Amino acid sequence: MLLIDGHLVDGASDFPVINPATGAPFAQAPRADEAQAAVAVAAARRAFPDWAALGFGERRRRLEALADGLEADLETMARLLTREQGKPLTEAREEVFFSVAALRHFAAMTLEPRVLRDTAKERIVEQRYPLGVVAAITPWNYPLLLLMVKLAPALITGNAVIAKPAPSTPLTTLRLGRIAADILPPGVFQTLVDRNDLGAWLSRHPDVAHVSFTGSTPTGKKVLASAADTLKRFTLELGGNDPALILDDADVAKVAARIFAGATANAGQICLAIKRVYAPRAMMDALCDELARLADEAVVGDGMEQGTTIGPIQNRAQYEKVLGFIEEARTQGTLVAGRAPNEDVTGTGGYFIAPTIVRDLPDDARLVREEQFGPVLPVLAYNDLDQAIARINDSDYGLGASIWTGDAARGAELAARIESGTVWVNKHLELPFDVPFGGAKQSGIGRQQGIEGLEDFTQARIVNVALG
Ligand code: NAD
Repeated sequence: MLLIDGHLVDGASDFPVINPATGAPFAQAPRADEAQAAVAVAAARRAFPDWAALGFGERRRRLEALADGLEADLETMARLLTREQGKPLTEAREEVFFSVAALRHFAAMTLEPRVLRDTAKERIVEQRYPLGVVAAITPWNYPLLLLMVKLAPALITGNAVIAKPAPSTPLTTLRLGRIAADILPPGVFQTLVDRNDLGAWLSRHPDVAHVSFTGSTPTGKKVLASAADTLKRFTLELGGNDPALILDDADVAKVAARIFAGATANAGQICLAIKRVYAPRAMMDALCDELARLADEAVVGDGMEQGTTIGPIQNRAQYEKVLGFIEEARTQGTLVAGRAPNEDVTGTGGYFIAPTIVRDLPDDARLVREEQFGPVLPVLAYNDLDQAIARINDSDYGLGASIWTGDAARGAELAARIESGTVWVNKHLELPFDVPFGGAKQSGIGRQQGIEGLEDFTQARIVNVALG
């Protein structure tokens, strides 16, 4: 059921939700129409002033209660997540666990006024006040966690939030709404499920003050265009094509395991997954052998089954897209691991793709330039480090990057030459809630997490007072 204005209600219609491990429907989801969306926006507008007036302390109390509710529901929520999203149950539990942690982390934060000038003549203070109605639009790879890193900071700063999940993963968002229904005041948090039609509607709506969007770069550009008319605020967390640069002093066996994990976690469906690897030419054979060994060891299957390390691709369209990348890469490079692309690795009809490692691709191959968002990894050789960095920076994306080396100081120095929102040295995919993250170039605009992420949901107001 949708949560609108404090009530759990049916949608205007229903549609089936597919379990990606079987390719078959396993539940029905309510679909909201524009009339219901309009009711939600109006309810959010009504709820906003009282919620904003509660102050940080009282809002924290409510968010802590929501965290308690979600924590008590962890196992059921994780199972639902695996069924709608596909990820192994252990990873689903982690996603719910980190969602609870995000909620508690942001619930404990406040934004204090900043004194900019305090003299006998004047006092100038920067205050932060909430924006109003926030639309939180999320993709299907981490439906709960990516919602939570919007919801928690937006709510604690005093906004009202309407969550709109991706149509293929609506159930965990709906379940969170069900938990919140008894905890948060009506209209403060609402859930709308669509079939890719309400995101644009919300982004255009004059009463929506901020669109916090996570998704693909092409859709992010549409959000930007829709928001222009009303000059609304927005955060765009978009696609990535993260490079991993291995230096000549790195330990191949150690690095290979961590790069493999960084490329194939969540079946490679992570904005910040490692999506291309640059290795010294002399290291290529050893590295590819090791990556191929890890690929062969991976257990691809239904996330509900114990021992599965890589679940299915979340939806059929993405599955076919990733297969297309593999087909093309096969003609342009050498596959060193990966079963035949159309071979059904489990026999269940699910959207499974075995981890695939490709070498000897040209730099202009689609798998190198575009975002594959699946467990397919190109490994590229370099002779000269400066050229490797130039090749890395020759990308429209700039979300994350990593440098792998036996000398962390050398890695940190090189990091300053990479055009990217985050550069890790000897790690990848680490996003602590107190550290802001976001994209450079076409990977996004704005920041999430950290103080900057909190401020993103507020407006700065300068109060400039003449004294004496
Ligand atoms: P998508 O862009 O297709 O959809 C994302 C969301 O936008 C969905 O809820 C969808 O219904 C909605 N939407 C569709 N059309 C819209 C419109 N015109 N206006 C507003 N909203 C609209 O993305 P996806 O395929 O669900 O997710 C995969 C993409 O998300 C990848 O590119 C990935 O890199 C990116 N992603 C980015 C981050 C990040 O933090 N930077 C995190 C996870 C995923």
